[in-house]
Amino acid sequence: MDGGRIVAVGDVSRYAGRRVLDAADRVVMPGFVDAHTHVVFGGTRVQEYAARVAGLEPPPGAPAGILGTTLATRACATPELVEQAGPRILEMLAHGTTTLESKSGYGLDTATELRILEAGRTLAADLPVDIMSTYLGAHAFPPGVEHAAYVDRVVDLIPAIAETGLARFCDVYCDEGYFDLARTRRILEAGIAHGLKPKLHLDAYSHTGAARLAAELGATSVDHLNLTTMGELEALGAAGVVGVYLPCLDFAVAHPAPLDPRRILDAGMELALATDICPGCWTTSMQLAVVMACRHGGLSVPQALRAATYGAARALGCDTVTGSLEPGKRADLIILDVARHEDIAYRIGRNSVTTVVSAGTVVVG
Ligand SMILES: [Zn+2]
Repeated sequence: MDGGRIVAVGDVSRYAGRRVLDAADRVVMPGFVDAHTHVVFGGTRVQEYAARVAGLEPPPGAPAGILGTTLATRACATPELVEQAGPRILEMLAHGTTTLESKSGYGLDTATELRILEAGRTLAADLPVDIMSTYLGAHAFPPGVEHAAYVDRVVDLIPAIAETGLARFCDVYCDEGYFDLARTRRILEAGIAHGLKPKLHLDAYSHTGAARLAAELGATSVDHLNLTTMGELEALGAAGVVGVYLPCLDFAVAHPAPLDPRRILDAGMELALATDICPGCWTTSMQLAVVMACRHGGLSVPQALRAATYGAARALGCDTVTGSLEPGKRADLIILDVARHEDIAYRIGRNSVTTVVSAGTVVVG
């Protein structure tokens, strides 16, 4: 590595290094890329989670659902959002994540959506991780606002977000009870018109038909995909759209139809993995996502590790920059104190990462 980039891989004996990181008998691999997160939010939903795992309703007054987190997030000024999300991102880094996506969507009003994206920008400047932001004003409908009027507001905010560079992607939660096909198209097309690349929360709980829209618009990724048909997945594959698998989310919500990620591969799509860290699925570990993707999703370990690195970089459009160990790419890599890469799927619940190198600098270990 030199100047923050990878110079050579394999036999590097012809180079005289100023510093040597000894990784004998350890695994060295690209830093994890977490392709789908809602890491900037206010508060916690631990009471809701604890109730739901026991089959109960959340206690009265406890924050629940997207709207519960929205109220807690609206109560936070930007420094408070930074203060709450910062430790989560450092925990992700300690578990080997060097690039992550961060969505807005817990504001559902103009001021808070902007604060979430500004917090993301501050965190990206302060912490040694690459954070790529996504505008997800269309995460849910806020209470007390007429749906058509809210869609207008989501669209109206796009030019300002694009001009200030606060987000690279525009995402919509397309599902029953959320944003329908026509509204999804309108929001994503407005994003495209201002240079924001489309992403979709797609078919998580109902079959929407938006997969064809994603293929038509050339979405960078489609995420969840629980109820997407094989024919639709093949159309997405032909259009070069990456499928993002969220096994920890399927686990945390006890999803009635957890995704079989082998369908994504069978359809010819590139597969990406992500934690989906959010108040309903609080995990910072891509190693756990790999564990779940293998044992629960039936992927081979190499398939899961590719999805957690190169595939995830494809889902963020940064695969020419990071996601694999190749000369010229940014020197984002991790060392794990296990002898074989299969150990990452095998050592359940363990953080095996001992060293994290981000853009050529040792930032953990
Ligand atoms: Zn999400």
